[in-house]
Amino acid sequence: MGAIRLDRLEKWFEALQVIKGIDLEIEDGEFIVFVGPSGCGKSTLLRMIGGLEEISRGKLVIDGRDVTSDPPSKRGLSMVFQSYALYPHMSVRENMGFSLKTAGAPKSEITEKVDDAARILKLGDYLDRRPKALSGGQRQRVAIGRSIVRDPTAFLFDEPLSNLDAALRVEMRYEIAKLHQTLGRTMIYVTHDQVEAMTLADRIVVLEFGTIAQVGTPRELYERPANLFVAEFIGSPA
Ligand code: ADP
Ligand code: MG
Repeated sequence: MGAIRLDRLEKWFEALQVIKGIDLEIEDGEFIVFVGPSGCGKSTLLRMIGGLEEISRGKLVIDGRDVTSDPPSKRGLSMVFQSYALYPHMSVRENMGFSLKTAGAPKSEITEKVDDAARILKLGDYLDRRPKALSGGQRQRVAIGRSIVRDPTAFLFDEPLSNLDAALRVEMRYEIAKLHQTLGRTMIYVTHDQVEAMTLADRIVVLEFGTIAQVGTPRELYERPANLFVAEFIGSPA
């Protein structure tokens, strides 16, 4: 469960090619981080994996199954965005359980799964609140909780912490690392923050104009950057 293979993935927006033939094997349970400067294609690549952006060419395989043309709902993945996109008129409990309710899950199952996720995310005391009565960090936890209840084979995060202040970012980074340990699920995490990448990743994928500049563990990238672009981005000593 949770192994993902990208096979020469390409994305064209009309005449503009933004993803230029990306090959990558992600292992089950791995924490993979996509880094690179703004506009290099991180979000586009993540959205292609999640099914929110059509794949122009190439193949996407999840657990041995070709899902290249499958809609998001059939991929077994769940995406967490930078903007939490919570429903303002619903309580935390309703927000977290909504996708299960829509899918027709029994009430007892929804309650149990929401309670489990709330325990992991320390949201137990906030389940009856509306999003506007929560802090930024708590809202982001609810957004993550919404993903957890769906029990995805992999989590996709697009800069989930970039709307938080510096102190909260550090705290949530730690929470996300813990979440990965607890759930043991594959996580694909997009950020432009090198420190976040270095602390969270099993492996980092450095993107440069829609191609992979280098893939490796944080240590490999730091000690043996493939080129100046990677060295400067990772902050290796010159
Ligand atoms: P990143 O997340 O790394 O900042 P993006 O994946 O958002 O980069 O964007 C990569 C490139 O694709 C950028 O040049 C961006 O302008 C372009 N792009 C993204 N979405 C669209 C779209 N819907 N239509 C046209 N161009 C797009
Ligand atoms: Mg982006």
